[in-house]
Amino acid sequence: MGFIATNLKDIEEKIQNSIKISNRSRKDVLLLAVTKTQSVESMAKVASDVDNKILSFGENKVQEFIEKYDKFDEKIKWHFIGHLQRNKVKQIVGKVDLIHSVDSIRLATEINKYSHQQDCITNILIEVNVAKEDTKNGVLEDELVAILEEISKMEYIKVKGLMTVAPFVDNPEENRKIFSKLKQLLVDINEKKIHNINMSELSMGMTNDYAVAIEEGSTIVRVGTAIFGKRNYN
Ligand SMILES: *Cc1c(COP(=O)(O)O)cnc(C)c1O
Repeated sequence: MGFIATNLKDIEEKIQNSIKISNRSRKDVLLLAVTKTQSVESMAKVASDVDNKILSFGENKVQEFIEKYDKFDEKIKWHFIGHLQRNKVKQIVGKVDLIHSVDSIRLATEINKYSHQQDCITNILIEVNVAKEDTKNGVLEDELVAILEEISKMEYIKVKGLMTVAPFVDNPEENRKIFSKLKQLLVDINEKKIHNINMSELSMGMTNDYAVAIEEGSTIVRVGTAIFGKRNYN
Protein backbone atom coordinates (compact mmCIF):
# COMPACT_ATOMS: atom_id res chain seq x y z
CA MET A 1 0.00 0.00 0.00
CA GLY A 2 1.26 3.48 -0.81
CA PHE A 3 1.89 6.29 1.66
CA ILE A 4 -1.43 8.07 1.09
CA ALA A 5 -3.47 4.85 1.05
CA THR A 6 -1.89 3.79 4.35
CA ASN A 7 -2.60 7.18 5.87
CA LEU A 8 -6.23 7.07 4.77
CA LYS A 9 -6.60 3.63 6.32
CA ASP A 10 -5.16 4.85 9.64
CA ILE A 11 -7.44 7.89 9.63
CA GLU A 12 -10.46 5.73 8.91
CA GLU A 13 -9.63 3.56 11.91
CA LYS A 14 -9.36 6.59 14.15
CA ILE A 15 -12.66 7.94 12.86
CA GLN A 16 -14.32 4.58 13.49
CA ASN A 17 -12.96 4.58 17.03
CA SER A 18 -14.22 8.10 17.77
CA ILE A 19 -17.70 7.50 16.40
CA LYS A 20 -17.93 4.38 18.56
CA ILE A 21 -16.90 6.28 21.69
CA SER A 22 -19.49 8.96 21.01
CA ASN A 23 -22.17 6.60 19.75
CA ARG A 24 -22.47 8.23 16.37
CA SER A 25 -22.83 6.95 12.85
CA ARG A 26 -19.99 6.97 10.29
CA LYS A 27 -22.17 8.63 7.68
CA ASP A 28 -22.54 11.66 9.94
CA VAL A 29 -18.85 12.55 9.70
CA LEU A 30 -17.26 13.84 6.51
CA LEU A 31 -13.53 13.49 6.07
CA LEU A 32 -12.60 16.61 4.12
CA ALA A 33 -9.21 16.17 2.48
CA VAL A 34 -7.42 19.50 2.85
CA THR A 35 -5.45 19.74 -0.38
CA LYS A 36 -3.80 23.17 -0.14
CA THR A 37 -0.22 23.09 -1.51
CA GLN A 38 -0.73 19.49 -2.71
CA SER A 39 -0.14 18.57 -6.32
CA VAL A 40 -2.92 17.42 -8.60
CA GLU A 41 -1.07 14.07 -8.76
CA SER A 42 -1.24 13.53 -4.98
CA MET A 43 -4.85 14.59 -4.99
CA ALA A 44 -5.61 12.10 -7.77
CA LYS A 45 -4.15 9.38 -5.55
CA VAL A 46 -6.64 10.19 -2.83
CA ALA A 47 -9.39 10.29 -5.43
CA SER A 48 -8.51 6.85 -6.80
CA ASP A 49 -8.11 5.39 -3.35
CA VAL A 50 -11.65 6.12 -2.35
CA ASP A 51 -12.86 5.04 -5.78
CA ASN A 52 -16.54 5.54 -6.20
CA LYS A 53 -17.22 7.34 -3.00
CA ILE A 54 -17.89 11.02 -3.40
CA LEU A 55 -14.80 12.83 -2.31
CA SER A 56 -14.44 16.33 -0.91
CA PHE A 57 -11.38 18.51 -1.25
CA GLY A 58 -10.79 21.62 0.86
CA GLU A 59 -8.77 24.56 -0.48
CA ASN A 60 -7.93 27.83 1.22
CA LYS A 61 -6.77 30.07 -1.64
CA VAL A 62 -9.00 31.15 -4.51
CA GLN A 63 -6.23 31.13 -7.13
CA GLU A 64 -5.06 27.62 -6.23
CA PHE A 65 -8.62 26.33 -6.11
CA ILE A 66 -9.42 27.69 -9.57
CA GLU A 67 -6.27 26.13 -11.04
CA LYS A 68 -7.14 22.71 -9.65
CA TYR A 69 -10.89 22.79 -10.12
CA ASP A 70 -10.92 21.93 -13.82
CA LYS A 71 -8.51 19.03 -13.39
CA PHE A 72 -11.09 16.85 -11.66
CA ASP A 73 -14.52 15.61 -12.66
CA GLU A 74 -17.80 16.30 -10.94
CA LYS A 75 -17.39 13.39 -8.53
CA ILE A 76 -15.18 15.71 -6.54
CA LYS A 77 -16.84 18.24 -4.27
CA TRP A 78 -14.96 21.36 -3.31
CA HIS A 79 -15.05 23.20 -0.02
CA PHE A 80 -13.52 26.61 0.53
CA ILE A 81 -11.95 26.78 4.00
CA GLY A 82 -9.68 29.84 3.90
CA HIS A 83 -10.12 33.52 4.52
CA LEU A 84 -12.18 34.83 1.61
CA GLN A 85 -11.83 38.34 0.22
CA ARG A 86 -14.97 39.94 -1.07
CA ASN A 87 -13.47 40.75 -4.45
CA LYS A 88 -12.81 37.04 -5.07
CA VAL A 89 -16.25 35.73 -4.22
CA LYS A 90 -17.47 35.75 -7.81
CA GLN A 91 -14.71 33.32 -8.81
CA ILE A 92 -15.89 30.56 -6.51
CA VAL A 93 -19.68 30.88 -6.34
CA GLY A 94 -21.30 28.03 -8.26
CA LYS A 95 -18.17 25.91 -7.99
CA VAL A 96 -17.99 25.19 -4.27
CA ASP A 97 -20.26 22.92 -2.31
CA LEU A 98 -19.63 24.70 0.98
CA ILE A 99 -17.82 27.84 2.14
CA HIS A 100 -16.60 27.27 5.71
CA SER A 101 -15.18 30.69 6.42
CA VAL A 102 -17.91 33.32 6.35
CA ASP A 103 -17.23 35.80 9.12
CA SER A 104 -19.02 39.01 8.18
CA ILE A 105 -22.30 40.32 6.86
CA ARG A 106 -20.41 42.14 4.11
CA LEU A 107 -18.87 38.90 2.87
CA ALA A 108 -22.23 37.11 3.03
CA THR A 109 -23.84 39.98 1.10
CA GLU A 110 -21.34 39.49 -1.69
CA ILE A 111 -21.88 35.72 -1.74
CA ASN A 112 -25.63 36.30 -1.89
CA LYS A 113 -25.27 38.75 -4.76
CA TYR A 114 -23.24 36.43 -6.99
CA SER A 115 -25.34 33.40 -6.06
CA HIS A 116 -28.40 35.35 -7.19
CA GLN A 117 -26.66 36.25 -10.44
CA GLN A 118 -25.89 32.59 -11.07
CA ASP A 119 -29.27 31.49 -9.79
CA CYS A 120 -27.80 29.09 -7.25
CA ILE A 121 -27.98 28.69 -3.49
CA THR A 122 -24.57 28.77 -1.80
CA ASN A 123 -24.11 26.70 1.35
CA ILE A 124 -22.04 28.38 4.04
CA LEU A 125 -20.78 27.93 7.57
CA ILE A 126 -20.11 30.79 9.93
CA GLU A 127 -16.56 30.76 11.24
CA VAL A 128 -16.48 31.36 14.97
CA ASN A 129 -13.39 32.41 16.88
CA VAL A 130 -14.28 30.33 19.92
CA ALA A 131 -10.85 30.57 21.50
CA LYS A 132 -10.86 34.38 21.03
CA GLU A 133 -7.37 34.32 19.55
CA ASP A 134 -6.28 37.73 18.23
CA THR A 135 -4.65 36.17 15.22
CA LYS A 136 -7.70 34.24 14.11
CA ASN A 137 -10.51 35.09 11.74
CA GLY A 138 -14.07 34.39 12.68
CA VAL A 139 -16.83 36.11 14.58
CA LEU A 140 -16.96 36.22 18.33
CA GLU A 141 -19.71 34.33 20.11
CA ASP A 142 -21.47 37.52 21.16
CA GLU A 143 -21.78 38.65 17.55
CA LEU A 144 -23.11 35.38 16.20
CA VAL A 145 -26.85 35.80 16.64
CA ALA A 146 -26.91 39.29 15.15
CA ILE A 147 -24.96 38.13 12.11
CA LEU A 148 -27.18 35.10 11.62
CA GLU A 149 -30.29 37.25 11.82
CA GLU A 150 -28.99 39.36 8.93
CA ILE A 151 -27.78 36.44 6.83
CA SER A 152 -31.05 34.58 7.35
CA LYS A 153 -32.70 37.21 5.15
CA MET A 154 -30.41 36.46 2.22
CA GLU A 155 -32.34 34.34 -0.24
CA TYR A 156 -29.42 32.76 -2.06
CA ILE A 157 -27.51 31.62 1.01
CA LYS A 158 -28.14 28.57 3.16
CA VAL A 159 -26.41 28.55 6.54
CA LYS A 160 -25.56 24.91 7.21
CA GLY A 161 -23.67 25.32 10.47
CA LEU A 162 -20.60 26.58 12.27
CA MET A 163 -16.86 26.20 11.83
CA THR A 164 -13.89 26.89 14.05
CA VAL A 165 -10.13 26.68 13.80
CA ALA A 166 -8.93 25.59 17.24
CA PRO A 167 -5.53 26.64 18.56
CA PHE A 168 -2.51 24.50 17.87
CA VAL A 169 -1.89 22.57 21.08
CA ASP A 170 0.40 19.74 22.09
CA ASN A 171 -2.34 17.73 23.69
CA PRO A 172 -5.58 17.60 21.64
CA GLU A 173 -7.55 17.19 24.87
CA GLU A 174 -6.91 20.89 25.46
CA ASN A 175 -9.23 21.67 22.56
CA ARG A 176 -12.10 19.49 23.75
CA LYS A 177 -13.80 22.41 25.52
CA ILE A 178 -13.58 24.51 22.35
CA PHE A 179 -15.31 21.82 20.32
CA SER A 180 -18.02 21.26 22.91
CA LYS A 181 -18.54 25.03 23.05
CA LEU A 182 -19.09 25.25 19.28
CA LYS A 183 -21.58 22.39 19.48
CA GLN A 184 -23.40 24.12 22.33
CA LEU A 185 -23.57 27.35 20.33
CA LEU A 186 -25.19 25.46 17.47
CA VAL A 187 -27.75 23.86 19.76
CA ASP A 188 -28.53 27.15 21.54
CA ILE A 189 -28.98 29.05 18.30
CA ASN A 190 -31.20 26.39 16.76
CA GLU A 191 -33.41 26.69 19.83
CA LYS A 192 -33.90 30.38 19.13
CA LYS A 193 -35.66 29.35 15.93
CA ILE A 194 -34.40 32.24 13.87
CA HIS A 195 -36.33 32.23 10.60
CA ASN A 196 -34.50 30.15 7.99
CA ILE A 197 -31.76 29.06 10.39
CA ASN A 198 -31.58 25.40 11.33
CA MET A 199 -27.97 24.33 11.45
CA SER A 200 -26.65 20.78 11.39
CA GLU A 201 -22.98 20.98 10.41
CA LEU A 202 -20.00 21.47 12.72
CA SER A 203 -16.70 21.85 10.89
CA MET A 204 -14.08 21.27 13.57
CA GLY A 205 -11.00 19.13 14.03
CA MET A 206 -7.76 18.97 12.02
CA THR A 207 -4.87 16.51 11.88
CA ASN A 208 -3.88 17.11 15.45
CA ASP A 209 -7.28 16.90 17.09
CA TYR A 210 -9.93 15.42 14.78
CA ALA A 211 -10.53 12.39 17.01
CA VAL A 212 -11.48 14.60 19.97
CA ALA A 213 -13.56 16.83 17.65
CA ILE A 214 -15.60 13.86 16.43
CA GLU A 215 -16.22 12.76 20.00
CA GLU A 216 -17.61 16.26 20.63
CA GLY A 217 -19.93 16.19 17.62
CA SER A 218 -17.92 17.30 14.59
CA THR A 219 -19.64 16.51 11.28
CA ILE A 220 -16.75 17.68 9.07
CA VAL A 221 -13.10 17.11 9.96
CA ARG A 222 -10.59 19.07 7.86
CA VAL A 223 -7.53 16.89 7.52
CA GLY A 224 -4.42 17.68 5.49
CA THR A 225 -1.14 16.60 7.07
CA ALA A 226 -2.40 13.21 8.25
CA ILE A 227 -3.31 12.35 4.65
CA PHE A 228 -0.47 13.90 2.64
CA GLY A 229 2.34 14.34 5.14
CA LYS A 230 3.92 17.65 6.06
CA ARG A 231 3.11 20.49 3.66
CA ASN A 232 5.79 22.01 1.48
CA TYR A 233 5.05 25.71 1.01
CA ASN A 234 7.59 26.38 -1.74
C1 LIG B 1 -4.60 23.77 6.53
C2 LIG B 1 -5.93 23.73 7.17
C3 LIG B 1 -6.42 22.54 7.72
C4 LIG B 1 -5.67 21.23 7.74
O1 LIG B 1 -4.63 21.24 8.67
P1 LIG B 1 -3.82 19.91 9.04
O2 LIG B 1 -3.27 20.19 10.37
O3 LIG B 1 -2.79 19.75 7.98
O4 LIG B 1 -4.78 18.77 9.02
C5 LIG B 1 -7.68 22.58 8.29
N1 LIG B 1 -8.42 23.71 8.32
C6 LIG B 1 -7.98 24.86 7.79
C7 LIG B 1 -8.84 26.07 7.86
C8 LIG B 1 -6.71 24.91 7.21
O5 LIG B 1 -6.28 26.06 6.69
